[in-house]
Amino acid sequence: MRDLSRVLVAFDLDDTLYKECDYVESGYLYVARKLARQLHVPVEATVEVVLAPEAGKHPFDALHDYLDGAVSVERMVGIYREHMPYLVLPAESRRCLDMLLAAGVRLALITDGRHVGQWNKIRALGLERYFKKEYISVSADVGYDKNHIEPWLRMESLTPDCDERWYVGDNPRKDFRYPRHLGWHTVMLADDGRNIKTQHVDLPDEFYAEMTIKSLDSLPDKIFFGPDATIS
Ligand SMILES: [Mg+2]
Repeated sequence: MRDLSRVLVAFDLDDTLYKECDYVESGYLYVARKLARQLHVPVEATVEVVLAPEAGKHPFDALHDYLDGAVSVERMVGIYREHMPYLVLPAESRRCLDMLLAAGVRLALITDGRHVGQWNKIRALGLERYFKKEYISVSADVGYDKNHIEPWLRMESLTPDCDERWYVGDNPRKDFRYPRHLGWHTVMLADDGRNIKTQHVDLPDEFYAEMTIKSLDSLPDKIFFGPDATIS
């Protein structure tokens, strides 16, 4: 096998290591329960309002109406963004990260979003076990999102001893163009039907990943044996 200590594998977070819809649901439930307690209204009712809002209505608009305007939508969004989500790292993500870590691969995270929200997700999922803090790159912290080359260049400068780098993501609009440009291998995890952002986009070739996988369970072999290896 190759010298894997010189291989960096960087992951996207949302809809790659876990499903973002689970975070969204966690946030809606948190807001519904917190406001029910504060306003002394039945929690079953507020939960039902956010999980099954009237057709065409955003859950927070529906909750705002249900509470007769007692709490602004802006305040609900604030609570949502700060909440510590209830999330479980999917089994395939855990298996994949366990295998890569055990093999000595360098693991990194490059994600876009707000500081508090992304770090709460990272902690809730227990990802600090796999990723050293210095290899966790959140756009709000580094000053650039993935529509810029800077997050990728920054990760390269943090890992000068690596001679092979990979990025694993889900979003062709921003996940693969720059790492490909820099000579990284790129892997797209196919949407299982639950992704927030569509993968059906019409973009120039440079935006697409070098390869697509259906499950993170097939990633370790690609990394251990190289992108061109055929594994039966
Ligand atoms: Mg994503």
